Amino acid sequence: MIVAATDLDRTLVHSARAAGPVVPGSVVCLERRGDVVTAMLTPRAAADLVALDRRACWVPATTRTVAEYRRLDLARGLGVAPRFAVCANGGVLLVDGEPDPAWAAEVRRRVATAAPLAEVARRLGAVRDADGCFLVARSADVELDGLAAWCAARGWRVDVDREKVHVLPVAVTKSAAVAEVRRRTGAARLLAAGDSPLDADLLAAADAGVQPVDGRLHASGWRAGHVAVTAGTGLAAGEEIAAWLRGRVT
Ligand SMILES: [Mg+2]
Repeated sequence: MIVAATDLDRTLVHSARAAGPVVPGSVVCLERRGDVVTAMLTPRAAADLVALDRRACWVPATTRTVAEYRRLDLARGLGVAPRFAVCANGGVLLVDGEPDPAWAAEVRRRVATAAPLAEVARRLGAVRDADGCFLVARSADVELDGLAAWCAARGWRVDVDREKVHVLPVAVTKSAAVAEVRRRTGAARLLAAGDSPLDADLLAAADAGVQPVDGRLHASGWRAGHVAVTAGTGLAAGEEIAAWLRGRVT
């Protein structure tokens, strides 16, 4: 059994803004806001993900909240319903689409020594809480000077993602939630894909992985011998990543 844990946004699915220069004529659209496509992939990438789901345990591992993940509706868009999905950057483990209470208890145990979310929220000001697991603010609304050090002293960390700031507990990660899936499934091997600094721990924990060349993680200089880098960008990188994963489970 192989677990293939993948980030979604800017790894396998792309918004119109992140799609890159070449948008093929037909795309599989998973999410839109008004007239704007916020998550799409190529038909070939979609087919490879279906094959991946059939031959391995595909675990979407996203920073999206549960509601944001459900909005993608993979069952409708791709015709697959992964048994396990990691949401809120590891804070929630969905099993058959529902939050797993045992993992929720483990997360509470893990954050017990960190500063409470409310205290961090007060420091940040205007924030949104993501499933009670971490905080999201607009970069423009937050005083970033000294924030990382302030957070580090309290068991939290900061990731600035373009116009958004994520502030998350250090002890809650995608790799920890995926390790739980690996434990439950008894999977011998872990494949991973991701584009952002929040995916680095997941890629590092994998036996083999892949990151897009246009990702923030790649731009930060992060490399690992067991992690391949795509040649293409945007939707083309998503297609490459899906093919890379499928190629390793057949
Ligand atoms: Mg991403």
